[in-house]
Amino acid sequence: MTRPLVAIASLGGTISMTPSDAAGGVVPRLDAAQLVAAVPGLGALAELSTESLSQLPSASLGTEQLLACLAWAAEKIAGGARGVVLTQGTDTIEETAFFLDLYWRHPEPLVITGAMRTPLSAGADGPANLLAAVQVAMDDESRGRGVLVVMNDTVHRARWVCKSDSLAVQTFVSPDGGPAGRVVEGRPEYFHAQGHRLLAPSPTRTFPKVAIIPAMLGDDGDLASAALDLGYEAIVVSAFGAGHVSFGFAEQIERVAKTVPVVIASRTGSGATASRTYGFAGSEVDLARRGAILAKWLHPLKARLLLGALLAAQTPREQIPEAFARWSTLPRHSSINPQPQP
Ligand code: ASP
Repeated sequence: MTRPLVAIASLGGTISMTPSDAAGGVVPRLDAAQLVAAVPGLGALAELSTESLSQLPSASLGTEQLLACLAWAAEKIAGGARGVVLTQGTDTIEETAFFLDLYWRHPEPLVITGAMRTPLSAGADGPANLLAAVQVAMDDESRGRGVLVVMNDTVHRARWVCKSDSLAVQTFVSPDGGPAGRVVEGRPEYFHAQGHRLLAPSPTRTFPKVAIIPAMLGDDGDLASAALDLGYEAIVVSAFGAGHVSFGFAEQIERVAKTVPVVIASRTGSGATASRTYGFAGSEVDLARRGAILAKWLHPLKARLLLGALLAAQTPREQIPEAFARWSTLPRHSSINPQPQP
């Protein structure tokens, strides 16, 4: 039986980190071939191609590297890969997965994994995560599900996945939608049929600077005006509760929204913004009246990436609320949307 081809690229992160006396801690050093060599039986499962795209802590990844990853992954699919796997630091996986998913147009799965423990620590989780990621990437059941994050034998959709703990192995959660599935005895088992996917329009300019400004007790949001002076082209407010800010912050939002798009997302970590519940100054109803866009189910980090993608595609300002509404609202039914929508 011919083994399926799976392409693996490494970007750095804890999964690749070994101790350095000079640095005073672990630093990314192992490449994709070395990561593969540490997983017993992986080569028997699939034909593997490996590539080291970068050796970075994930805090220092950016849109340029991610666009390069997309090009690499698309090339591997065109060359016959059944799926592709990226290994990276876990600190930014919830963002990189969402970013890549905005643009991943192929039915073949793009799977991201990493590790919470370094390769030399007792109970290192990297090899098991890489094995599970390859098992997910090569499985037909994973097709059409876009970008998936596989950690701790759990499969998460890019749309929902969040890092919930700084050091625990079981850090990844999907707070609202729940995980997509689990890896059981070497195969992914999905809880739901593949659902509605949306794609962002291709970028036609460089990615803009989009700020996230938190609502904080006793704060009047003057960082919002400062962000404009610093050249930020849009603002996401990480708002209290269901989309609320102070009286002073509400006035800042009204002023700033005259110049750049302002999106209100909830800082709580799960749940949607409301749209017709509270009417006080600084409430979601008030902020929408003042020109802000409500992010609904999109949390601040993901809302920021979508806003950046819309601006990078030069989406006219008046179309941004409608585009956001498409992304932030859940479909009323679970039918598959075969047409990628901008
Ligand atoms: N702690 C991180 C990790 O899990 C470091 C990083 O994100 O690069 O890989």
